[in-house]
Amino acid sequence: MKWFTTVIRLVFLTVFLLLMIKGKVILWLGLFALSLIAAVFLGRVYCGYACPMNTLMIPSDWLGKKMKIQTNRIPAWLQNKPIAWIALIFSLVSMLLAKRVLQINIPVLPIWLVVSVLVTLRYQPSVFHNLVCPFGPLQKWFGKWALFSKKVNPDACIGCKLCEKVCPSTAIQVSKDNRKAVITSALCHQCTNCQAVCPKDAIHYQKT
Ligand code: SF4
Ligand code: SF4
Repeated sequence: MKWFTTVIRLVFLTVFLLLMIKGKVILWLGLFALSLIAAVFLGRVYCGYACPMNTLMIPSDWLGKKMKIQTNRIPAWLQNKPIAWIALIFSLVSMLLAKRVLQINIPVLPIWLVVSVLVTLRYQPSVFHNLVCPFGPLQKWFGKWALFSKKVNPDACIGCKLCEKVCPSTAIQVSKDNRKAVITSALCHQCTNCQAVCPKDAIHYQKT
């Protein structure tokens, strides 16, 4: 199943790169807009399967750990700050102004692709996903209403925390009170990492 997920991600990455080369940014933004509607029904599947940043962040995360340059620390200047919203507004305004005033297209999406890879070499993927990504706030807002999402069966969960370790967006957390894992659908990319490692088959994609 993992290979199938990888193929889907690579197909979307290829489509993204082709559209960027051909200057069809608007088509990708249209896909992103559709993904927000999809998030209300299916959860943040765009983030888990279609987002080119996520696809490149996976090898970047692996490389950062391998080279021992990645830290678990979250930089103070990112904590509790609306950096992602600022990134979103700045990206949209600079794109529109450059187009209108200077008649040029700024490659905002490819720039974010490079930033996501660099940030993830240094920090855990959740730092970019939850605190920096300019598309994250919108996905988060729509994703919190998800009709279907990954859910933990509390009767089956033994609180082993294996799922926490593999979650790229800190969407799954084991409660200190009852030692049961809980998934926040607003943060969940529906990626199946947690399902794959759960020893009790406690995690399923179902109606919320
Ligand atoms: S690991 Fe599980 S909780 Fe985390 S994003 Fe993937 S599916 Fe969601
Ligand atoms: S891996 Fe499964 S059993 Fe372990 S804490 Fe997560 S949901 Fe519970």
